[in-house]
Amino acid sequence: MERLPYPLSAWAIVDESYSVLFSHENWKNNNGLEFDEDLMKRIADQKAKHAELFLSTSRRPRRLFLKCVADVSEVKKTTLSLELDKARMEKVVSKAARFHGRPVTWKSWRQFNSKADARSRKRVYDDLVKKTPVIRPLIKGMFEKSWSVHAKYGITPLRGYLESERIALPDLKELVRKLGSAVRKPFRESLERYSREIKKAPPEYYDDFYYFRGRIFRPLDKIFSRFNPAEMPVRQLKRLVFDTRRIHVDVEDRPKKTPSAVAFFVQIPNDARVLVKPISPFTDMEASYHEFGHAMQCISIDPTLPLWDRESISHGIAEIFSTFLESLTEDPTYLRKKFGLSAEQIRQVVERRRFMELFFVAFYSANSLMKISFQEKMLTIGDASELYARLYKEYVGFDIPGEYWQLHHVMPDYDLYSPSYLIAAVRKSELITRLKNKLGEEWWDSPKSGEYLKKIMSPGANIDLDEFSRLDTGPLLKPLLNPDN
Ligand SMILES: [Zn+2]
Repeated sequence: MERLPYPLSAWAIVDESYSVLFSHENWKNNNGLEFDEDLMKRIADQKAKHAELFLSTSRRPRRLFLKCVADVSEVKKTTLSLELDKARMEKVVSKAARFHGRPVTWKSWRQFNSKADARSRKRVYDDLVKKTPVIRPLIKGMFEKSWSVHAKYGITPLRGYLESERIALPDLKELVRKLGSAVRKPFRESLERYSREIKKAPPEYYDDFYYFRGRIFRPLDKIFSRFNPAEMPVRQLKRLVFDTRRIHVDVEDRPKKTPSAVAFFVQIPNDARVLVKPISPFTDMEASYHEFGHAMQCISIDPTLPLWDRESISHGIAEIFSTFLESLTEDPTYLRKKFGLSAEQIRQVVERRRFMELFFVAFYSANSLMKISFQEKMLTIGDASELYARLYKEYVGFDIPGEYWQLHHVMPDYDLYSPSYLIAAVRKSELITRLKNKLGEEWWDSPKSGEYLKKIMSPGANIDLDEFSRLDTGPLLKPLLNPDN
């Protein structure tokens, strides 16, 4: 192996510069502003070459090696993933119904769902699934690209994933199965109940996670419409003495802006950006706390750390802090004190959030187990769909066409990702328990909580998970299984 013709620290500065430029354009794109797609493609190309240069000279530090392999794989998938994105809008369409004057696509499926009647929802669902053969070769191509890039460097996406999530394969499978089996019964009970409330009929296979998420919080919208989702989380972070000047929030309503909230780590820790586009009051509030949780982590990372320790944060670690802050929107005392909710209103929030959490665990158990086997056995797309149908039946409880996963906005796009949501959910609940034990039920009013959180987040990827987490499912599952104690 040859050596880099300059110091690694210089290599890192250049790599980071590409990331900053790229995320700035990407932020503009999501924000509905003019952006330069050509420039983005050129930057991505340069970034890949730069990463390959490092890979041709060294495999150490290990974290940088894994980051570079992932970066190269990501870039090599760009053309296919742009094509997939386009196909989802132009080809995966149903003429059975229209939304805002246009045939329904997976992109408008969620909004369409919250308005349409059962018959047309069923027809659209079936239609969209029937169109998946159009995107199937693109999805296949993306996974194969990733496998071949990883193979070139003697690794697999699954191994890289497990390493950065710091979990062994058997433990991960056991964790997911445990969560999925635990929620099966209470989930089915709540599902029946809310289905009767919302659609006045038992649930059907096409009443998916997004259908319920779009409908369930409606009774809460009136109360939450009095609050600004771009302001409440900022106030909360200030209570914890975070330097919120490093978080830039954009609340403008532009037609092309991404609906709901998103966070960008443009430069860690100096430039975090959150976009908020109000759509429906309670969900916006939840989503905004979630994204500000990401931003909170971004601005807390020690600036003196090397790039790979600041940047290479696994999804399972990043989602701890977003879902952690989001959880405030279901904390009864918090809802009373900061939002002035009545006891009855609080009950509504807590029960409905519990149902969505049960649905989330059931759905993501199926999603995760499918993706784990898919990566472990390098399944064909057809076998993956067959397996998905079996797992969906087992954990969510319906017979669906297994191709449904191919429509999802995360499942085909990432090597794994889904299990990270579950890992993070467990750790998030442990973190909240830890804070309550240390600083009391109203920890969110204490600057000491902010200090503790900063101490946990500042090491970036070197985070000491043992400080608050043993992957104990108790704190997550207890309130889901026994809501009354
Ligand atoms: Zn997130």
